[in-house]
Amino acid sequence: MSRHDIIFAGAGHNNLVAAAYAARAGFRVLVLEGAPRIGGDTGTEELTLPGFLHDPCATAHNLIQSNPLMRNNELELDRHGLKYLYPDPVFTMPFLGGSSISMWRDVERTCAELARFSKADAEAYRQLLAEWDLMAQVVNDERANVPRPQADVEARTQASPLGAKMLAIRQATAIDIVTLRFREEHVRAFFAWIAFMTLHPLDEPETGLMAFSLAAGRQRFSWILPEGGSIRLPLALARDIEEHGGTILTSKSITRIAVEGGRATAVETKDGSIYEADRAIVSTIHVKHLPEIVGQENLPGDYLAGVARWKPNLTMFVTHYALSEAPRFRMTDGLGACVTMGALESLDAYAAMLAAFRAGKIDLREPVFLALTPSVIDASRAPAGKHTFKVVSFLPYELAQGPEHWDSIKQDVSNELFERLSLLSPNLSRRIVMAEHVESPLDLERRNPANWRGSCHGGANSPEQSGYFRPVEGWSSYRTPVAGLYQTGACTHPGGSVSGLPGRNCAEVLLRDLGSSLDDVIRSNSAVNSLPRPRRKGQGWGP
Ligand SMILES: Cc1cc2nc3c(=O)[nH]c(=O)nc-3n(C[C@H](O)[C@H](O)[C@H](O)COP(=O)(O)OP(=O)(O)OC[C@H]3O[C@@H](n4cnc5c(N)ncnc54)[C@H](O)[C@@H]3O)c2cc1C
Repeated sequence: MSRHDIIFAGAGHNNLVAAAYAARAGFRVLVLEGAPRIGGDTGTEELTLPGFLHDPCATAHNLIQSNPLMRNNELELDRHGLKYLYPDPVFTMPFLGGSSISMWRDVERTCAELARFSKADAEAYRQLLAEWDLMAQVVNDERANVPRPQADVEARTQASPLGAKMLAIRQATAIDIVTLRFREEHVRAFFAWIAFMTLHPLDEPETGLMAFSLAAGRQRFSWILPEGGSIRLPLALARDIEEHGGTILTSKSITRIAVEGGRATAVETKDGSIYEADRAIVSTIHVKHLPEIVGQENLPGDYLAGVARWKPNLTMFVTHYALSEAPRFRMTDGLGACVTMGALESLDAYAAMLAAFRAGKIDLREPVFLALTPSVIDASRAPAGKHTFKVVSFLPYELAQGPEHWDSIKQDVSNELFERLSLLSPNLSRRIVMAEHVESPLDLERRNPANWRGSCHGGANSPEQSGYFRPVEGWSSYRTPVAGLYQTGACTHPGGSVSGLPGRNCAEVLLRDLGSSLDDVIRSNSAVNSLPRPRRKGQGWGP
């Protein structure tokens, strides 16, 4: 048995963020991860051939750029080798009819692309970015704090520079925003695709802001990705935790959180080890799994009912390829390799995709794609001249025959998707494929228990599962009904993606409850970090 102040259950990037602040606050920190390596959905693995570094899940690290952690360099992760790359073009979208639209880092260049389809739409894009500038502070402030009640959110929205207009935008569907603001069908598809990149169904209410935030975020930060792969973020966090005296153990699947006298006191792992926590336990275990691990008898009925109602979000189907050359896609000035390409033919194709999804059907006639070739900008991802290629499509976890049916059909589905994608790239053929690795929505759940029902963002971010209601109404403050037990990660506000916000927000609440504060940590770090510090040796939690 070993004792620590705070035990962090799971080593996804959010819990590592929370642990890093806690370690810097001087607490004895222990992080226990069930998988053989840290990072959760923010990882990098040789999935195909030696030397080919694939991100099995997240590649883009956009949302974390607005987190004060990164914006103000609070944890100085660059000292631990974290370096971001900014692809240009940001992404390109070729259409089957032969045209294409690219987003470039230069706004005017993006507008020139749009103007080829519609001058009015290019102007509408400038307007959209200008309006986002007037709304961003309100949204960023909401995301970087404990959720407020709905009435408070509405009052703050009304008080924003756009006032009632912002309220109308936030209540609208993203599809309505795209349709009202843009006239030309290709341009509409372009903006619907980018708004969809956090997988909220854009025809649902209260998705209106997505039509602004995702386009503006990509325009500002590009399809930003860490050099060396997604794992570089968790690795840098882990080094920071260890540098501040924390310990990280992998292959430690937590089977029980012990509760004594209503208080979380210890965790037990699958191998029978018990670790005691003197001050707190912070969980990033999916809320659907939490009652079993904590014991239903230790959770009140309203919390259990909220967890029982929890719904997954849309799911992805991913194939990773090792390629002998980079796929080239159509751009305005001819064919070119690019880090990110998107494919969506029209708003009708988007509606068809959602309809098939909701019916549990696989419709491969006009698939929506996100395809990434990180090695175009990052030579460390593949052997010289070779490339890693990730093809993401959006297909349901639930099938009429049950999710296990994926095991029988996934290779055929992947092959069909490859053929469809090849129509958009003249050199993308079996000739350049050296190896491949397919992950269905079921495989994504097997890879990480936090991907419950294949959900890659914890669960739907629908109105009843977001903000004040995430994960359960009354428990959105990162505290749980069990004293000393905190919850962070994608199931908590503001939800999934590599944002680090659930982790930092949770750290703020945790530290305050323990008599410390995030502000104190940040202030004292800026003084201490100017001094050289010895580097502790890593303990084998990563590559
Ligand atoms: C295919 C795919 C592509 C994606 N692409 C992007 C992208 O490009 N950009 C983006 O921003 N987001 C993307 N996402 C979403 C994003 O990766 C996740 O929302 C985010 O990484 C979640 O981080 P987290 O820290 O909350 O949890 P996770 O990364 O899920 O970490 C949770 C950790 O807890 C561990 N754990 C769970 N239960 C236990 C237990 N009982 N005991 C011990 N450990 C446990 C897990 O093993 C895991 O390591 C993608 C997701 C997927 C699946």
